[in-house]
Order: sequence, then structure tokens, then C-alpha cells
Amino acid sequence: MKVIRHWIDGKTYEPASDRHGDVYNPATGEIQSRVAFASTEVVDVAVEAAVRAAKSWKSVSIAKRTKILFAFRQLVDKHQHEIARLLTLEHGKVTGDALGEVNRGLEVIEFACGIADLQKGEYSENVSTEVDSYSIRQPLGVVAGITPFNFPAMVPMWMYPIAIACGNTFVLKPSERDPSCANFCAQLLADAGLPQGVFNVVHGDKVAVDRLLEHPKISAISFVGSTPIAQYIYETGTRHGKRVQALGGAKNHMIVLPDADMELAADAAVSAGYGSAGERCMAISVVVCVGNAADKLVPLMKERIAKLRVGDGFEAQSEMGPLINKAHRDKVAGYVDKGVAEGATLVSDGRTLAIANRPGGFFLGPCLFDNVSPSMTIYKDEIFGPVLSTTRVATYDEAIHLVNTNPYANGVALFTNDGGAARKFQHEVEVGMVGINVPIPVPMAYYSFGGWKASLFGDHHIYGRDGVHFYTRTKAVTSRWPDPRHRGVDLGFPQNR
Ligand code: NAD
Repeated sequence: MKVIRHWIDGKTYEPASDRHGDVYNPATGEIQSRVAFASTEVVDVAVEAAVRAAKSWKSVSIAKRTKILFAFRQLVDKHQHEIARLLTLEHGKVTGDALGEVNRGLEVIEFACGIADLQKGEYSENVSTEVDSYSIRQPLGVVAGITPFNFPAMVPMWMYPIAIACGNTFVLKPSERDPSCANFCAQLLADAGLPQGVFNVVHGDKVAVDRLLEHPKISAISFVGSTPIAQYIYETGTRHGKRVQALGGAKNHMIVLPDADMELAADAAVSAGYGSAGERCMAISVVVCVGNAADKLVPLMKERIAKLRVGDGFEAQSEMGPLINKAHRDKVAGYVDKGVAEGATLVSDGRTLAIANRPGGFFLGPCLFDNVSPSMTIYKDEIFGPVLSTTRVATYDEAIHLVNTNPYANGVALFTNDGGAARKFQHEVEVGMVGINVPIPVPMAYYSFGGWKASLFGDHHIYGRDGVHFYTRTKAVTSRWPDPRHRGVDLGFPQNR
């Protein structure tokens, strides 16, 4: 059986012995390959390679770094169908969705190609007489990325193109559930001319992650994953003196006001609730209907859900694929059981869905609940599957209260035709990413991505200018070239003149 190995120092790395994990094809339920699990020693080998490479990479000119990034951009674009194929094979998402993921990652690479402008410092002449001050943005050294299963191409691309463009070297620990894309991109980076050791991949589990968190030669950690692990990464990483940004889970609400275009809102809720089988951190999880909105909206959603085609992501007609593995599929189905037991109205039930040509796949059909109350488990927990809850409230104030008191604050959307209501909402809502008639408001690469509260631990959002700031530290230089007026020793505190 094929074994997916680590990538260290510009090539595949095969240690004498390794633990392994199974990689499934979620559409068939079969184990299709195995992935090496790094020991602490293997992580150390990767970090040492990154340390060696960092010595010269930080001095490589902006012109050369930019050329490599442009070449990488071209290669990702050229090979996007192969990358998308790997995503469908190991994650299960349908081909169109996988291509969308690659293209959103590509936007961050394109942003990183502009590093010449982004990494500029500032210069002030004559801060004191014939004294100049300027700032330089320098790389941190070796940085690590730890990423989740649901975007095996895009989420790592939120990190390493910018980190590398800034002059850092990188160790990626991708999800062990869909690891192949990381190696494919490592090869493309090598083909683009990236020197060996600048980008490394270690596969594995908590053993590898814990070594990265405590390794004294790693300066910063970018993490994306669930909230409990994000909090653990933030606390452990910072305790070991590292700069950490740790993006966590979500429970995204979509508020629908009674004046909204209900056809548009129904399309949006169904697309954002069931796309990628709900395994997106920006998926809509709760539709909050204000006034009588639910009476119109719920039947429209039900109609659309009945037409959704679930199946193997490689089949052209499939709109929604399987869940990542059996344990997760069963956990999500268990939430549906719980919703029924706690008294919510199950409008669409996907639990009995069977895919004739894929009987072993981890499929669950789309499920829709109405009359969900905030005390119910399906309202409180991040389900991360194709389960959409509808909650009914009387007023806008009640709706925004629900959003603002939720512990998660990743994304939120408002559907309305009232510009004044929308403006009030964007001002009042306490969430990091806001959509107005846009259900999945993932910011462009030149803005930054990040939630608030339990959806992000740390001070920097990911990519955009925040990314450049995260992966650099500022040095401020004050300089005077001696001249004949130099007056000798002066123990007084330097004053600006
Ligand atoms: P996860 O937290 O289980 O895993 C993320 C990474 O952490 C993986 O690389 C995994 O190997 C590692 N990990 C898991 N358990 C660990 C432990 N005990 N100690 C150390 N490392 C550990 O997340 P997942 O299931 O892969 O991904 C889904 C989650 O990610 C959801 O909660 C989703 O909302 C979140 N997510 C958030 C964003 C965001 O931008 N906020 C984006 C994508 C996914």
C-alpha cells in the first residue's frame, strides 16, 4: 500500500521506523494509503533543515524570492486539476468545490507575490538634526503551520506563501486525514526553484504537534483547527515563548429579516449550509428568522434540499460528497438524533440516505431543523456536518443578541433589503467576518481572515497585511553619520533636536 512520507530538505524523507495512520477514500470507505507519523526525532530533523536554510534564505533578495513565488503561482495554476483530484480523493469534496478551494489558495500566493511592497519599512529623515530613523521588517526564522482536514490545499496556502515571501523557512504539519496535497505542493515549490529546507512537511499526530510547540528553534506557530485544540496550541506555544495565531471553530449564524429576498436567502442558506457537506469553518449552521421570515423561508429551503444530489465527489452530477470518516459521520448523525430528542422539528432527514454505487462511503444526507431553541445541543455545539438549524425570533434585537452572546464569532451574515438595517448590523455585530447578503464572507487575500472570541486565539488574523506582520518583526534603526560638530561624551538622555 502506498505510504505518504515526510518532505524534508527538498526531498522525501524515510526514517528507519515510523508509526503510521490510515488514509481513507471517504466516498468508498476504503483505506487507500497510509501516512507516516513523525516522531520527535523526525520533527527535529525537519526543524534543523529549516534552521540551516533560514541562514541564507533571509538574505535572498526580494527580486529572487518574488521570482520563485511567481513560478510557484504558475505551477499551482497549471496543476490545479491534479491538486483538486487529491482533495476529492482524500477529503471527499466534489470536484467543483475542490477547484474553488485551490483557487482561493492561489489568491494568497498572488498576494504574496507582492511582497516587495508589503515588506517595506518606513524612513524619517532628520528626526533630530542630521539623525535619521527607519524601520525594517525582518523574518522571524523558522515558523510552523498546523492545519485541519477540511481545506488541505487552501489553509496551508494561507500561511506558507506569506511566511516564505517574508524570508522565513517553514515546517508544515498538515492533517493526517488528507495529507497528500502537502507533498504535491512541496514538489511544486521545489520545481519553482525554492532552495531545499525552506519548506518542509512532517506528517503525524499530537506527537509531532507537541514537538513543534516546544521546539526552541521555532519562532512562531500558525494553527487552524477546532477551538479546544486552538486554545491548547495557543497556551502551549506562547508558554514556550513563541508568537502564536490559532484559529478555532465556529457556529455561524445567518439572520434573515422579513424584508429579505426569500428566494435569494433560501439559495444562500442551502449553499452555505451543505456545501462541502457542512465541513467548512464558514458554513452557515443556524438560520435566525426574524418575524414571519421562517414561514416563507423554511419551505423554500426544504424544496431546494430535496433536489440536492449527494454522491462520490468525482461524479459530475454530485453537489455534496461524503463526510471525512465514519466516526465523524456517526457523530453528526448522532446530533440529528439528539435534535429530535430535544424537541426540534426535523424538516428534512438525511440519516437514511443510501448511495447505491457507494455503499461503504461516509455519506449523510442534508438535514434541516426548524424551531431550534438556544438551549438545545444542536444549537450550542459546532456540528461540522450537513445539519442546518432554523431558529425563530420576534425582533432584530433578539437576533443580534443571539449572535453576540455566542462564544464563537467566526462568520455571520445578514439578509435584508434595508441598507440602514445592514449598516446598523455591521456596526453592532461582534464577529470577525461579516456578510451582507453574502452567506460565506471569506475575505480576499488582501484583507485578512479571522474570527473573534473562541474562533481565534492571538492578536493577528491570518494572511493579508496581518499575515505579513505576523511573520515579521520590526527593527527600528536610528542613525547618525559622525560630522565635525560631534561634541564628545554626553551622558544625558538623547533628546531630539
Ligand atoms: P482538529 O483541531 O482536530 O485538527 C487540526 C490539527 O490539529 C490537525 O493537524 C491535527 O493533527 C492536530 N491535532 C488534533 N488533535 C490534536 C491534539 N490533541 N494535540 C495536538 N494536535 C492535535 O481540527 P479538524 O477536525 O482537522 O478540522 C475541523 C475544525 O477546524 C473545525 O472545528 C473547524 O471549524 C476548524 N476550522 C477553522 C477554520 C478557521 O479559519 N477558523 C478553518 C478551517 C477549519
